[in-house]
Amino acid sequence: MLEWKNIDTILLDMDGTLLDLNFDNHFWLEFVPRRYAQKNGLTIEQAKLQLVPQFKEMEGKIEWYCLDYWSKTLKLDIAGLKAEIAGLIAVLPHVTEFLTAIQQSPKQLILVTNAHRDSLDLKMEETCLSPFFDQIISSHDYGAPKEAQSFWTQLYKHQPFDKQRTLLVDDSLAVLKSAKLYGIKYLISISKPDSQLAKREIIGFPAIEDFRSLMQL
Ligand SMILES: [Mg+2]
Repeated sequence: MLEWKNIDTILLDMDGTLLDLNFDNHFWLEFVPRRYAQKNGLTIEQAKLQLVPQFKEMEGKIEWYCLDYWSKTLKLDIAGLKAEIAGLIAVLPHVTEFLTAIQQSPKQLILVTNAHRDSLDLKMEETCLSPFFDQIISSHDYGAPKEAQSFWTQLYKHQPFDKQRTLLVDDSLAVLKSAKLYGIKYLISISKPDSQLAKREIIGFPAIEDFRSLMQL
């Protein structure tokens, strides 16, 4: 069980932690290949063969999260395409109850995401979660993803927090490892970031399936 009385800052990831990763998975693995195929006279299979290695190569780099980068590289209006299927954006179960409970406590609550500002704005518009947060940080503001130490040093400068009294919840193990290296004490992963996929086995970090298990504030 978490020692809530020893925690005064909570950092929460967005995609796959608060929001169903099904949107992003569907967007990048199905919707973008379909539009890319139409635009370039390819079959969907051919489009996937071209796109998937490009996505893999950029994983964990800031460009991966950059809509401008992909719009330019793929010659598609990525922000526009996201808006087309915005109806699929969904908050994961029990997130709202958890955020409500935290908001009523004196703890500092910060959203920390690798999502591009355009994507972040669209998702906040669709889900109305922004009023819960004291701060909303996109790693694009710092030019470094959460996987990089530079993200955490810049976050600290901008919004000081006590590493020993801070909790990060994030579905990305690479991000949790980076936060651990930086010295953040409480780290939790998500075992079911995508509602349409099976629960994952998480090694190396405690994991929750949903926020009910963190509700004993
Ligand atoms: Mg995530």
